[in-house]
Amino acid sequence: MIKTKMEKVKINSEKCKGCFLCVPVCPEKCIKVSDKINKSGNKFAVFTENGKCKSCGFCFLMCPDVAIEVYK
Ligand code: SF4
Ligand code: SF4
Repeated sequence: MIKTKMEKVKINSEKCKGCFLCVPVCPEKCIKVSDKINKSGNKFAVFTENGKCKSCGFCFLMCPDVAIEVYK
């Protein structure tokens, strides 16, 4: 059986307005700015699975648009 590891953080790129408040708040530098743009024409935040995310939820708490979900 193949086990797929679920990402701890999901960022909805279409909800994201590109304020990037979530980037500096992450103590593990797991969130970066994408090179792409969403349908609203905004650059958006992306979760980088660097193995360091602690599911602390700081990014979720910071996001004004509730675009981030955090899983344990
Ligand atoms: S805080 Fe929310 S809206 Fe702002 S860049 Fe991060 S995910 Fe996007
Ligand atoms: S849950 Fe914490 S460690 Fe994980 S991406 Fe968000 S701020 Fe960073």
